[in-house]
Amino acid sequence: MINSSEVKYIPAFLRPEEIENDAWALILSGKQLLLWQTENQLRIPKIKELKDNISINEDMMYIGRYDGFACYCKKADELQTLTEKLKAVELRDITAKTGDSGLFMLAGTANHLLHWNSTNQYCGCCGNKTADKIDERAKVCPKCGNTVYPRISPATITAVFNKDQILLAHNKNFKRNLYSLIAGYVEPGETLEQCVEREIREEVGIKVKNIKYFGSQPWPFPDSLMMAFTAEYESGQIEVDDFEITDASWYHADNLPEIPNTDSVAGKMIRWYRDQFNEMSN
Ligand SMILES: [Zn+2]
Repeated sequence: MINSSEVKYIPAFLRPEEIENDAWALILSGKQLLLWQTENQLRIPKIKELKDNISINEDMMYIGRYDGFACYCKKADELQTLTEKLKAVELRDITAKTGDSGLFMLAGTANHLLHWNSTNQYCGCCGNKTADKIDERAKVCPKCGNTVYPRISPATITAVFNKDQILLAHNKNFKRNLYSLIAGYVEPGETLEQCVEREIREEVGIKVKNIKYFGSQPWPFPDSLMMAFTAEYESGQIEVDDFEITDASWYHADNLPEIPNTDSVAGKMIRWYRDQFNEMSN
């Protein structure tokens, strides 16, 4: 299941009056994050550790506290390996390299908020420059009052079971020969369950039943919230849409193809299924 007990990040928008000495600095560039190599650990740099290498300024966005310390983030144009101690690490490698999956999600949250900040500099109603709202995380237009909150786009992801087999599909956008669960964005006017049914019908042509909630996970690339479900196969033959999904099949737990890592809810769910199957067969 999805573990929520190790919550290290506490979101906040109200900027402390002064930047604390031990505050973290999340510097992102594209799909990379800057990390600091200590003797025995790779971790987020402290602002004080970056002062000689990166311009730290009041424009950095405060996003709350991580592991007890204030967290500030900003985008940099380009991250090079600046010193022996400063490393530019791909976001997808953060968990493996630091052993801290919370840090991967924190970098994602910074990515989500920085993306929202940079795409809402002007009012969508009147075109005036927006300002940060002082009493909540929002942008407000001083001219017409239009208020814009960080957008969160809901999406469903579903593990479909056919007796002891799981449905896994290859999406044409996957870089490697990876197989995962069926996912898609919720349409306006749709319930989550309707979204699950529609996405599965559209992408692989089958009908499902007994849709049950499993858990949720933010997927801030740039702004999704994944809501995970399980469902049972009801009827139909697998027929891929060839638009998003290029291949899909039923797989046994002991013969899985390459699957996503445990940073994603898909990776967690497929392993949950595999572990349950292994327990049952022992
Ligand atoms: Zn406006």
